[in-house]
Amino acid sequence: MEFLFDGVKEFSKNDFEKNKELFRKLGTVQKPHTLFIGCSDSRVVPGLITKSLPGDLFVVRNIANVVPYYRASSEYLSTTSAIEYALIILDVKNIIVCGHSNCGGCKALYLNDEELDKIPHTKKWLELVKNAKIKAESIVKDFDIKNDYEWLVEEENIIEQMNNLLTYPLVEERFSNGQLNILGWYYEIETGTVYNYNQKEKIFEKIE
Ligand SMILES: [Zn+2]
Repeated sequence: MEFLFDGVKEFSKNDFEKNKELFRKLGTVQKPHTLFIGCSDSRVVPGLITKSLPGDLFVVRNIANVVPYYRASSEYLSTTSAIEYALIILDVKNIIVCGHSNCGGCKALYLNDEELDKIPHTKKWLELVKNAKIKAESIVKDFDIKNDYEWLVEEENIIEQMNNLLTYPLVEERFSNGQLNILGWYYEIETGTVYNYNQKEKIFEKIE
């Protein structure tokens, strides 16, 4: 555990010192340009893959980079409130839904009932990914998740969650008025490649 404290000491001594002026400016205000919706996966680091600085990205992460469809509710809605706050208070101009390779959340859809019952809240949460699974399985004949089609479920999931974003009245309004960009990204961990979803062509294209 000690290494966690060492990391903080190292940050205060080096990284903070080097960027003191930036942190001073950020001390009282944030004006991020982008809401980044990513997976909780430890290998997905939004600031790293976009080369962003503190203050650039407003980030919400959850298992399988899910955007729950819009609904009015008195429950405690983490992702929904983050979207609301990013638009109304921070006035972000872009939303990125970023999925990734080898996503444990997408893969968990293929766990057996006994395994899923050990993680009941995750099981419930992943109901929001089921459509992506159904779509992927309808695209490939003889679909077998073990035969390297994980990526297809992951990509379909990004599209599904982008569609869910449009169920938010304010997102829909700003997107159709051209005031808001919605991007779907697929991050391939082992190659460091990011693919951007071309909404006209309906394909993921390598960003290069
Ligand atoms: Zn994931």
